Amino acid sequence: MAEIRGQSTFPGGSHPPENKQLSENASIQVIETPKQVAVLLSQHLGAPCVPTVAKREKVTAGQTIGTSDAFVSAPIHSPVNGTVKDITLQSHPVIGRTTAVIIDVDEEGNEPKQPVANQFTKDFDPTQYAVEDICKAVQEAGIVGMGGAGFPTRVKIEPNPAMPKEVLIINACECEPFITCDYRVMMEWTWQMMAGIRLAARAAGCNKIRIGIEDNKPEAIKLLQKCVAELGDVGDFTIVPVKTKYPQGGERQLIKAVWGKTVPTGSIPPTIGVCVLNVATCAAIAEAVVMGNPLTHRAVTVTGKAIAKPGNYYVPVGMRVEELIEHCGGMTDSAARVVLGGPMMGFAIADLSTPLTKTSGALSLLTKEDVTKAKYNKQQTPCIRCGRCLEVCPEHLNPTKIAHAVKYSKLELAQDYYMSACIECGCCSYVCPANIEVTGYIKTGKLLVARAKKKLG
Ligand code: SF4
Ligand code: SF4
Repeated sequence: MAEIRGQSTFPGGSHPPENKQLSENASIQVIETPKQVAVLLSQHLGAPCVPTVAKREKVTAGQTIGTSDAFVSAPIHSPVNGTVKDITLQSHPVIGRTTAVIIDVDEEGNEPKQPVANQFTKDFDPTQYAVEDICKAVQEAGIVGMGGAGFPTRVKIEPNPAMPKEVLIINACECEPFITCDYRVMMEWTWQMMAGIRLAARAAGCNKIRIGIEDNKPEAIKLLQKCVAELGDVGDFTIVPVKTKYPQGGERQLIKAVWGKTVPTGSIPPTIGVCVLNVATCAAIAEAVVMGNPLTHRAVTVTGKAIAKPGNYYVPVGMRVEELIEHCGGMTDSAARVVLGGPMMGFAIADLSTPLTKTSGALSLLTKEDVTKAKYNKQQTPCIRCGRCLEVCPEHLNPTKIAHAVKYSKLELAQDYYMSACIECGCCSYVCPANIEVTGYIKTGKLLVARAKKKLG
């Protein structure tokens, strides 16, 4: 059979080692329900939720435990039957600390939730669901972008006459090294994901669907092409293999590769008629609309050379990192760092009681050797103005100038260099021969600007 080669891509980017072999062939395993979960009330972009339950209150699996009236937000649900032990601050993988509902799990009646993929077939008919019912179900289920961004999905898909959407682009790239949970969703929950894609296209009013997938996943490409062929006459729906290059799964980079259009800097995809959703998000949409199930569990890749049993696991949102590590056979003696996410965009976490969220697609356990090789552990030398960071930047920024501005506390200058347009992909740090943590400076600069705005506000 001819090799599948993606032709389309975006300018810039890099090729870090993929390291997907550790878990790509491991099917998604259901794990035991933990004895306690800590469900964070801020798991999405937008307003955090406020608790709708109180200490010592009984909760059931799927019950709403946090909501917000804000337009951009998503409710939070309990993944288990249990009793609220406390409502208190907990470590958050990205924002430091935030409020969480701590639930002691009932000893009886907490068999692990099973995936629902076997309830979907190619005969699924999205037209039996009204647009407003799809949007309502997605909102009530608390679905957010599960690829990492966490933007509330209802806001993305609901019709907006001022900004009509033409094409739904499905992000099936999973370009971050090590991570394979989306690949397994495509391979194992295929018809469920397809149902979610067609429901989302219906809600968004998109008459074209494109699945953008990197050409390092030939089995998934063949499977998806076969599924689209089996669907028959469902309109303009095609699979678009794209070049394997990091960060091909960045929203703007994917749109460029698949649709040939550029989202203007500072703007959003709907302004050019595009809606982008991740594959796991689509599977969650199908489960919410058809079964009425909220987003309480997700597929998570546990990977790296420092975990005993790497694989892909079906995990309740709110499970603590330390318990998931334990379930996967524990860390090896060589373990040196735990990263929530992948090595390029993930967050190193020191507090292993941090709970997983709806956007936690991976847990990477790195060895001493991995960490020693990392840029932040190497001697940093002055910038030699080689320009490599400019060449790889997928957003056409001047990373070294932004980093210098931040380093010397010139935040206004950093903003003049479009610091806010940085997608924090890490490519500039990855290629820098002077070992400068360019992305680190930029992340710090963005944080300082956000804090200053909050103070002024
Ligand atoms: S400046 Fe931002 S977007 Fe550009 S390469 Fe660096 S991290 Fe990526
Ligand atoms: S890659 Fe590093 S050394 Fe080269 S210009 Fe950028 S910051 Fe300077």
